[in-house]
Amino acid sequence: MRINEERLKERMERINSIAVTEEDGMMRLALSDADKEARDLLVSWMEEAGMSVRVDDMGTIYGVMKGRDEKALPICVGSHMDTQPNGGRYDGFFGVMAGLEAILTIKESGAEFDSDLMVADWTNEEGARFVPPMLASGTNAGQFTAQWVYDRQDTEGIRYEDELKRIGYKGDKENRLTKAKAYLEPHIEQGPVLDAKGISCGIVTGALGITGLDVTISGEANHAGTTPMSHRKDALVAAAEAISRIRKNCIDFGEPAVITNGIINAQPASKNIVPGSVYFSIDLRYHTDEGMAELEKQTKDIIHKTCAELGTTAEIEQYWRAKPAIFNETIVRCVEEAAAEKGLSAMKIISGAGHDAVFINEIIPTGMIFVPSIKGMSHCPQEDTKWEDLVSGAELTADVLLKLDKETV
Ligand SMILES: [Zn+2]
Repeated sequence: MRINEERLKERMERINSIAVTEEDGMMRLALSDADKEARDLLVSWMEEAGMSVRVDDMGTIYGVMKGRDEKALPICVGSHMDTQPNGGRYDGFFGVMAGLEAILTIKESGAEFDSDLMVADWTNEEGARFVPPMLASGTNAGQFTAQWVYDRQDTEGIRYEDELKRIGYKGDKENRLTKAKAYLEPHIEQGPVLDAKGISCGIVTGALGITGLDVTISGEANHAGTTPMSHRKDALVAAAEAISRIRKNCIDFGEPAVITNGIINAQPASKNIVPGSVYFSIDLRYHTDEGMAELEKQTKDIIHKTCAELGTTAEIEQYWRAKPAIFNETIVRCVEEAAAEKGLSAMKIISGAGHDAVFINEIIPTGMIFVPSIKGMSHCPQEDTKWEDLVSGAELTADVLLKLDKETV
């Protein structure tokens, strides 16, 4: 399939010009005025193409192009249009626009298809305005209740539901996508692997699971001058030693294991008091359930052992766990075959980031296509992808949709 490059480019530039920061970043926070403007344009393009448009109770928009077989389950492609504050031009947005362009290309080519072809724009994927991320796809997959999501507030205390109503995108629960033959999400890689290898297509086989831990180390706050080194129970020293050891352990555990300590906070936070208490966060990721549990156990053991050596104690609480995703084999194969037929350089890859596809995978056979991110930059204005890679990603999406229409998934 050959897409209409001009149309894709013009439309992407149109939406990417709505809310631009001083550093040339995107500022389409979920359910903001900028998000509304982008949504209105998307809906107008869907309608112009003869798609029927529906909106669900979480604000997710679906454009449906009718297939030949009334009884066939739909095939859905999509991603999200919301961005991080000062975010990139293609994160999420590419998947929605590539999906729409792919469906238009198929329709205009005169190719016949049995399933309805749908494109979806999931609300609040980023979790930048309303925490946590992937609220709409998570609700779709039964991870959150609608009421809980409605009550999420941004930093100004504005509720999700109130914003949804304000911008006119509160639809019906019946419109949620709960059954489909397949869900496909094209996305930028947001990592450096494809770009570094000069490969233009990532065949995504799954996504890393995430375990989030809150660690609180308790020692003894005391005078910085009168407490000899041998008498100290310094919670920050214990935290520093533990963080260094769990990092080394993670490297020894082997790829794709990753561990991050994004927040650290020492108390009482005085320059001349030995820290008595330290909080730090852990974000730990791995591609298998058993492996993630084992790495979590090793990490906890190391923290407890380190604390005991330094006269401190640790309390560790798990605040978040998302299972690793393993994508549908048939969809993975279809992406692989379509890339080969198109003559694209391609490799199998596991996503390190969370995506709507990870939640949708729980209820619908799911797969993803990655296009390279230049230097792996993402969630920043430097985020970029070569135009030819975006084009071949959109064309590959069309090819995969047609393949899936013929397959039994
Ligand atoms: Zn994204």
